[in-house]
Amino acid sequence: MKIKDLLKRKRTISFEFFPPREADGVPGVIEVIKGLQRFGPDFVSVTYGAGGGTREHTESITLRLRQETDLVVMAHLTCVAQSRSAVHSVLQRLAAAGIENIIALRGDRPPGYESAAPSDADEFAHATELIEHIRRNFDFGVAAACYPEGHTESADLDTDLKYIRLKQDWGADFLITQLFYDNAHYYGLLERAAKAGITLPIVPGVLPIQNTPQIRRFTALCGATIPAALDAQLERYADDNRAVREIGIEYAVRQVEDLWANGVPGVHFYVLNRSYSISRILETLGLRDAGPADAPASGPSASGPSASGPSASSV
Ligand code: FAD
Repeated sequence: MKIKDLLKRKRTISFEFFPPREADGVPGVIEVIKGLQRFGPDFVSVTYGAGGGTREHTESITLRLRQETDLVVMAHLTCVAQSRSAVHSVLQRLAAAGIENIIALRGDRPPGYESAAPSDADEFAHATELIEHIRRNFDFGVAAACYPEGHTESADLDTDLKYIRLKQDWGADFLITQLFYDNAHYYGLLERAAKAGITLPIVPGVLPIQNTPQIRRFTALCGATIPAALDAQLERYADDNRAVREIGIEYAVRQVEDLWANGVPGVHFYVLNRSYSISRILETLGLRDAGPADAPASGPSASGPSASGPSASSV
């Protein structure tokens, strides 16, 4: 099943996981994923370590999920720090295993990385080149990344948008956003994208906050911001991980309710391999033991952020 077809039919819910460092952690991650099946995710995905080291675990989890469950699995694939032929081989293995969806990414070059390929021309420089390669050679459904607050390397939001448009032009089917904590950033991206002729579904990525130092590290790395009021709460309970986890659950519920009220095509949860927060969030949202009620596919509401429901500025 191609995810682009699911997105035409319904508002999707999806979960993202990451591979463990060691092979003996693979069964534990698979157990977490299987445990969350009761919420009926429309697809799940497993990240791919651009820095190497865990790539084989990504592949093994992806392939085992394909064999052992009826989940729609999307494989993450980064192209940085790998030769074109190595990336091509991964794609061949995924296709042979019956994986139908890929999220095509550049990834971040590991610090101190020396090119494994004889020249830079032997690497895909950007996700756009990887998307084009996949389109020419394979029959995968293709997703790509985008950044409501802009990618850290982009000079400005317009430059960023130009390359998002290129992802569409070269064949991506839909986009998933980086995490954000003010929905106004996501709605702003939708407006800019519409003006730039980007018609692809843009699925918001939501990361329930687990603890204060971790979320500060993540947001600093990916260039996302934490609204002042939320940050003050996180600071206040910085030494109390349980309290911060509760704040994260409550915040994610309000964020998703507001996104749903504005007709988003789906929500992609960054689960961080922990089932507690995501389970509480989905239960609160009324998604226990079943997928979300089928909703007609719809883009963002014409009026942008809703006037009704929680205000965008509060989430
Ligand atoms: P690109 O699209 O190549 O963009 C990188 C920068 O180059 C941007 O500034 C962009 O504006 C610019 N650019 C884009 N195309 C061009 C072009 N053709 N010419 C010139 N400039 C261009 N990382 C992992 O390591 N593993 C994962 O599994 C993973 N999964 C992710 C999933 C999602 C949904 C998201 C949002 C991010 C994910 N990342 C992952 C992080 C991602 O790899 C990093 O953000 C990385 O820095 C950029 O990847 P990209 O695919 O967006 O790159």
